[in-house]
Amino acid sequence: MKILIGLTVTVYLVFAALAHSDAVRKITDNDIADASNTADWLAYGRTHNEQRFSPLTQIRSQNVRNLGVQWYMDLPNDVGLVSTPLVIDGVLYFTGTMNIVRAVDARSGALLWQHDPKVAQEVAGHKRPPGWVHNRGLSAYGDKIFAATWDGRLQALERTTGKLLWSTRTFGLDEPLYITGAPKAFKGKVLIGNGGTEAGPTRGYVSAYDAQTGALAWRFYIVPGNPADGFEDDAMKMAADTWSGSWWEHGGGGNAWHAFTYDEELDQLYIGTGNGSPWNRKLRSPGGGDNLFLCSIVALDPDTGKYLWHYQTVPGETWDYNSNMDIVLADLELEGKSVKALMHAPKNGFFYVIDRKMGTLLSAEKFADANWATHVDLTTGRPVEREGARYEDGFENITPGPFGAHSWHAMSYNPLTGLVYLPTMHHSADFTDQAYDKTWRSVSFEGGTAVDWTQGANPRAYVGELQAWDPVAQKPVWSVPQSTTWASGTLATGGGLVFQGEADGLMKAYDASTGELLWSYDLGLGISAPPITYALDGQQYVSVLVGFGGGYAGRITPGGEGLGWAYGVHTRRLVTFSLKGEIVLPAQPEPYFSEPLLEPDFAVNQTLADEGAGLFLQHGCYACHGVDAVAGGMAPDLRGSAFLLSEMAPMLSLVVRDGARLDRGMPGYPEMTDAQLAAMRHYIRREAHAAAGVTAAP
Ligand code: CA
Repeated sequence: MKILIGLTVTVYLVFAALAHSDAVRKITDNDIADASNTADWLAYGRTHNEQRFSPLTQIRSQNVRNLGVQWYMDLPNDVGLVSTPLVIDGVLYFTGTMNIVRAVDARSGALLWQHDPKVAQEVAGHKRPPGWVHNRGLSAYGDKIFAATWDGRLQALERTTGKLLWSTRTFGLDEPLYITGAPKAFKGKVLIGNGGTEAGPTRGYVSAYDAQTGALAWRFYIVPGNPADGFEDDAMKMAADTWSGSWWEHGGGGNAWHAFTYDEELDQLYIGTGNGSPWNRKLRSPGGGDNLFLCSIVALDPDTGKYLWHYQTVPGETWDYNSNMDIVLADLELEGKSVKALMHAPKNGFFYVIDRKMGTLLSAEKFADANWATHVDLTTGRPVEREGARYEDGFENITPGPFGAHSWHAMSYNPLTGLVYLPTMHHSADFTDQAYDKTWRSVSFEGGTAVDWTQGANPRAYVGELQAWDPVAQKPVWSVPQSTTWASGTLATGGGLVFQGEADGLMKAYDASTGELLWSYDLGLGISAPPITYALDGQQYVSVLVGFGGGYAGRITPGGEGLGWAYGVHTRRLVTFSLKGEIVLPAQPEPYFSEPLLEPDFAVNQTLADEGAGLFLQHGCYACHGVDAVAGGMAPDLRGSAFLLSEMAPMLSLVVRDGARLDRGMPGYPEMTDAQLAAMRHYIRREAHAAAGVTAAP
């Protein structure tokens, strides 16, 4: 009898589960491709074409001035927020600091569930590259939400409950790799790559997993390995001919950390690939060569991962000009013909339009100052570099600098105006490949390239710009100069609007045709995440995560002092606007600049301080704590941290060596010696004294 009851219960549960799963909408490729669905925001770039254009017209140029806050959600433990939320059937999903995924009611902001992948627990005891506080988004497919963690896990969550269904490691915990990007789901698979080109000898790859089970379906390597080990496929054999020396000892790089676009019309997958490892080609591939498939768009068969074609934006890359930026698809009218085009505006400052059937370059023009090349030769498809651009045996001021003219901040495309809305940065940097010098700000491991981020005049009077770019004529139609860089990605709507958040905390809406500023709202904290829009019950909403962030976000002003969006001072938020919204947000504190803490009796030893500066660089501390330990933003300004004072020396060891702040995103460095910790303290004290105007060592 007991058994019978057990069986009955089991059968009932199975039926209940079936009935339950039947009720859940299964997201398909057709759903993600459907541009007419305005209720949802189903994928990173809204639809498979990554246009970030919604046909919604309720909010339009005539009434956008009435936009107000409908609801908001405080995220008091979050730091850098850069992700694009998804909206499915009235639920908004987003990923926050420490890769915590949350589902909230898209009408009210009420929390429905949250999933914490416990990144700190996962990495405890392992040496990890820093900077895991941010991630750019999620992917939805079938009845699941897919998320990736900084430490390399790809996870499938049940969409209705947040329950973990499967979790798979995409790289080893001791490899110098990390994930900040959104997974990409298509055709029953989920794609993910990783970052890490600068963190050690890495060989980039992307992997596709079965969406249902998490089993590895295929992997594509971006650069060839050691020929002695044999090549994985013909594409790697072809690529190896473009390298020289013992490149595999450096890893080669090419890591795909951002752009993945699935083309459901042509059934092709496009990945944007990274720069070389190390940066300097002279070290990486001493005999020269294009170094495939660095800095390229590579088209792959979505079912097998086999190479189809590639277009390389920067042959023989040597400036960190990766091609990881968004890949946006559209039908463009070119010389009377409709072309299935691919648009790409990578770091190097050129806007590319490519026929995506075979990867044929159609046009390429500068969208920003770029002095490394004069132009792209349309016959060969190759850039024409200027004399000296490779800074060999000298110092060269190169535009753009290593941050690029455009980074991961998404561009949008409005098919009604035919314009791309492109966040642009204008800056230069001094490059040299003379001997590594710790007084230079270098992020290139092995010292092949040194970059002084703070030298060299900016090429324009303004450092940031929102451009409306005509991809057919290859020229700007309107532009809005900005006094800071790192503005958010853009959103284009059928209401004739372009939305963008800025580093200064202002959320703005522009007329899509003229660039006229129509609406502005002060959110009191810098915005780096791109806004989205959706509609429920006849009401159009615009949502954005407010929480200045991303690697290096703290050093966007020329002196690196930041904008005062200090760690632990300003409340990070998810904010949703509508025409009916009338909530007044709680005020944020004014921008805060930490006061350096002085220790008058501390005698700075310059040799130790120099050693500390080197450790600070080598461990990538600047990514969160700021260049020259100034400002930070993603982490405390160390010049004002009590942990660096002599009386608190045991705390320094607990935090830096033992990982006592792992849960806040601060990795532990178990190999750090007492002498190194002391050197670090001399360095920070020197910077603190300098900030306070105490120049002479006591
Ligand atoms: Ca890079």
